[in-house]
Amino acid sequence: GSTIGILGGGQLGRMLAMAAARIGMSCHVYCPDPDSPAFAVAAARTVAAYDDRAALEAFASACAVVTYEFENVPAETVEILSGLVPARPSGRSLAVCQDRLEEKRLCEDLGIATAAWARIDGPDDIRDAVEQFGAPAILKTRRLGYDGKGQANVMGPQDADAAWAAIGEAPAVLEARVPFVCEVSVVAARGEDGTFAAYDVAENRHDGGILRVSRVPARISPEIADEAVDVARSIARALGHVGVLAVEMFVVRQAQGDSLLVNEIAPRVHNTGHWTIEACPLSQFEAHMRAVAGWPVPSTARFADAEMTNLIGTDADAWQALAAQPGTALHLYGKAESRPGRKMGHVTRLFPLGEMPAD
Ligand code: ATP
Ligand code: MG
Ligand code: MG
Repeated sequence: GSTIGILGGGQLGRMLAMAAARIGMSCHVYCPDPDSPAFAVAAARTVAAYDDRAALEAFASACAVVTYEFENVPAETVEILSGLVPARPSGRSLAVCQDRLEEKRLCEDLGIATAAWARIDGPDDIRDAVEQFGAPAILKTRRLGYDGKGQANVMGPQDADAAWAAIGEAPAVLEARVPFVCEVSVVAARGEDGTFAAYDVAENRHDGGILRVSRVPARISPEIADEAVDVARSIARALGHVGVLAVEMFVVRQAQGDSLLVNEIAPRVHNTGHWTIEACPLSQFEAHMRAVAGWPVPSTARFADAEMTNLIGTDADAWQALAAQPGTALHLYGKAESRPGRKMGHVTRLFPLGEMPAD
């Protein structure tokens, strides 16, 4: 059939399935948790563990192509599926993007700047790295981190043991803390034929490691915006990526001008691209579904300025006030339980092009 399989059942899977439905595609969502937000909008669903071979085989046989709404799919799952059905993006996009060390190495190979970093396999490595590039620094687990989880601050060599213990002694990287002027991201789609189309660069504000607000346009120069898109293009090409991907970057300001450092890569639709649902004829979700179905990647143009605000944990209670602002679209993900730090929904406020207030 022409059903598209989505592995993972969170809000990203939900918004992928909603976009797919509008263009006549049907989706089969696979996720271990029966309460997953994506199940409510999927044409077919499987509730099973990611290592359940029989369930994965049945899922694969029902789908023309399989995609992922999160990158931390166990390698074994990808291996089982990729022998049975075309999977997009490819194993290489997932393998690189689920390991911060591989992301840094890819950037290094491509000549793309990142914060100073070192591979960490124990507290001695932390002390050595701090001696080499200084502090403050951030220790991050190589795998499975999201929303700032799996990270510990290192203010100097004295913090090495505590930081190592705090991340559960997992393989890690240490990064210099970047004194950025702002954070930006490029969300872009790449087709099977290599065509690449980027949305306008978003400017992002995080709080406690969790994305709060994305706004477009970003308050950066056209030169830096072009450079950001070039960075994303070269990463997407090097990965042989098919579908949407996002590259998070820091903008740093020096005497000689602004420059970019890549933070991390997500081989999927991204929270900093949610504004595309209302501000673009083609949202990031539809662009991803079209690309993984083998359709060409069309224009990523936008017709409005936009500000997206996440409704997080208990602030989700403020959604009625936010949603009452003029020109605002409300999204609630249907999660039963509101917990601090949990993404419950988002709002996107649109402004005519060029009319978004500067702050
Ligand atoms: P996500 O939910 O985006 O996947 P994550 O858990 O993978 O988050 P990061 O993106 O690595 O985490 O970090 C979260 C935020 O913490 C960044 O967006 C940034 O605000 C801050 N941060 C991370 N690394 C650095 C750094 N080296 N220097 C300065 N700030 C940083
Ligand atoms: Mg991340
Ligand atoms: Mg991030």
